[in-house]
Amino acid sequence: MIIKSAEFTVSNTKISKLPPCVLPEYAFIGRSNVGKSSLINMLTDVKGLAKTSQKPGKTQLINHFLINKEWYLVDLPGYGYARSSKSNRLEWAKFIKNYLEKRESLQCVFVLIDSRLEPQKIDIEFCCYLGERGIPFILIFTKADKNGVNKSQQNMSAFKKEMLKHFEEVPQMLLTSSETKFGKEEVLSFIQDVNQH
Ligand code: GDP
Repeated sequence: MIIKSAEFTVSNTKISKLPPCVLPEYAFIGRSNVGKSSLINMLTDVKGLAKTSQKPGKTQLINHFLINKEWYLVDLPGYGYARSSKSNRLEWAKFIKNYLEKRESLQCVFVLIDSRLEPQKIDIEFCCYLGERGIPFILIFTKADKNGVNKSQQNMSAFKKEMLKHFEEVPQMLLTSSETKFGKEEVLSFIQDVNQH
């Protein structure tokens, strides 16, 4: 898919104020600092579209970006930042769960995983939550350039193994790097395929 246009549409803290459910949308989520903003900027080819390196926990917003006037890329607040208070975390959960469970136009959630790390409990738990609710998702491993290929593959295999303790089948896994643009076409093709069905 070629990205011809990418426009910031709206930031929201309220589900009731989201754009109408008329276009397919794809949500990006992951632990704070996983490389979500960098990935969004890389995929859309717009530097600064999503704000990188914000203070963890600062934004609790759902950001909608309209892509090619055909679909929405949705930037969800990161989970699992150590510094936020318990009440913040609970608020996060309510707000995001509401979105994930009720948004009719949501086609797929992209769960971002840092390819440098061994499987993290918080990521597996989040995948289990999505699985239990029947919310479609795939896994996008980030920062591939920071590892040798073997290390990324090793961590992906370990993640898969961990997932198989909870799932019969493991969702699709894609390896990416925002630095080298590795995996860009695969992510965009995935979206294009879903949009065409
Ligand atoms: P976010 O909090 O998930 O939105 O993460 P950011 O996109 O702000 O990235 C966190 C840090 O990781 C920043 O310092 C980025 O420059 C760095 N980073 C993100 N993606 C990559 C990548 O693919 N390769 C490398 N080398 N660094 C990355």
